[in-house]
Amino acid sequence: MNNLKKTDLQIYNLVKAEEERQRNVLEMIPSENYASLAVREALGSVLMNKYSEGYAGRRYYQGNKVADQVEEIAIARTKKLFGVPHVNVQPYSGSPANAAVYFALLNPGDKIMGLKLSAGGHLTHGHPKVTFSGRFYNSVQYDVGADGWINMEEVAKLVTREKPKLIVVGTTAYPRILDWKKWRTIADSVGALVLADVSHVAGLIAGGAYPTPVPYVDVVMLTTHKTLRGPRGAIILVTERGLKKDPDMGKKIDRAVFPGLQGGPHDNTTAAIAVCLKEADTAGFKKYARQIITNAQTLGETLQEAGLTLTTGGTDSHLLVVDLRPQEVIGNVVAEALEVAHIVTNYNTVPHDTNPPMFPSGVRLGTPILTTRGMKEKEMKQVGAWIAEVVKEVKHYLLPADKAERTRFMTKVKGELARNQKLIKIGKAVIVLCKKFPVLEIY
Ligand SMILES: *Cc1c(COP(=O)(O)O)cnc(C)c1O
Repeated sequence: MNNLKKTDLQIYNLVKAEEERQRNVLEMIPSENYASLAVREALGSVLMNKYSEGYAGRRYYQGNKVADQVEEIAIARTKKLFGVPHVNVQPYSGSPANAAVYFALLNPGDKIMGLKLSAGGHLTHGHPKVTFSGRFYNSVQYDVGADGWINMEEVAKLVTREKPKLIVVGTTAYPRILDWKKWRTIADSVGALVLADVSHVAGLIAGGAYPTPVPYVDVVMLTTHKTLRGPRGAIILVTERGLKKDPDMGKKIDRAVFPGLQGGPHDNTTAAIAVCLKEADTAGFKKYARQIITNAQTLGETLQEAGLTLTTGGTDSHLLVVDLRPQEVIGNVVAEALEVAHIVTNYNTVPHDTNPPMFPSGVRLGTPILTTRGMKEKEMKQVGAWIAEVVKEVKHYLLPADKAERTRFMTKVKGELARNQKLIKIGKAVIVLCKKFPVLEIY
């Protein structure tokens, strides 16, 4: 990065600082991953300089012979990897991709149904008031049961009553397998379309470690930067079933992405997506996907043996949500303490959280990056032991009942945790582990 260094030392130094941070922490945010050098090279390539509004062979600009091939390769690889007949690789990211699906298949005011944000859904699944999906569409939301699981009988009742035009099935903080077949049966009972938003688990599906929704749903949306380990981006897939229902569904999706919502595609991202799809179509990636889940399950068991509570009692996927209510500590405090110990997570609501969303009762943990680094069960047991120790250390930080006190409370807690010797000591041990599993510069 010598050119960046010469031109802009300030940004160069920040990039270096971020590299150093990523090297020396256990990144356990389940939506993140460390993409390969090959993916990053494609992303930083001159393809970035090109405008290619439109689709291969039908561009609004000259000079797109190369861009056409790049996009066609990305499309062909997606079709092969996921077994679908129609693909759009242009969405800038997951949120605009969901917007494109709605724009393509719904009219404003149509009824959509998605999982509540607080139960592990996504903002774009119809979250009320603040999002486009909750305001432009008539949004009804389903919840998880008291045990944290999605109760399909409850869902069926809600669907029968509400008759949504489209059901979004997909999660950001739900650790369990989704029963795609059952969702299909329920949707068919009212003639609803099903969008599977597999943003989080796309890599697990590609690696054959998590059930694919493709045979059961009409449209699939996935992000490329989470378990799929590519650049930031998204892909929309239309299934055989979707095309059978509406032969124009593919065309509608394409038109919604461009010109409906977006301008020129990011050809450098498309190239990097093609690279990550090639990487995902290997025996090594299959092993990677399975190991992610084995690691998450080992981590979960370790945490439970140490007395911590997991929502739904465990995981079938790459993520876990720790319910901290028995420890009487909020997620914010634990996430802050974990970062002092060089373990990076995010605070998260737990099902039917009794604390407010800004001070929720859980932390969400994921194993994709640790697995990318080559860590296995042995390391998960160590990491789990550290996490349990950190939680024990902060058990006494109770959230003030007085709302006005809460922000001041977090500032005070942050200061105290930054000086906590036990956390600092764990942090040093974490750095030693990180150095044994280098990754950024070698693959
Ligand atoms: C991450 C995610 C998205 C949005 O992706 P962005 O790229 O952050 O816009 C949408 N849906 C689900 C379920 C996700 O996990």
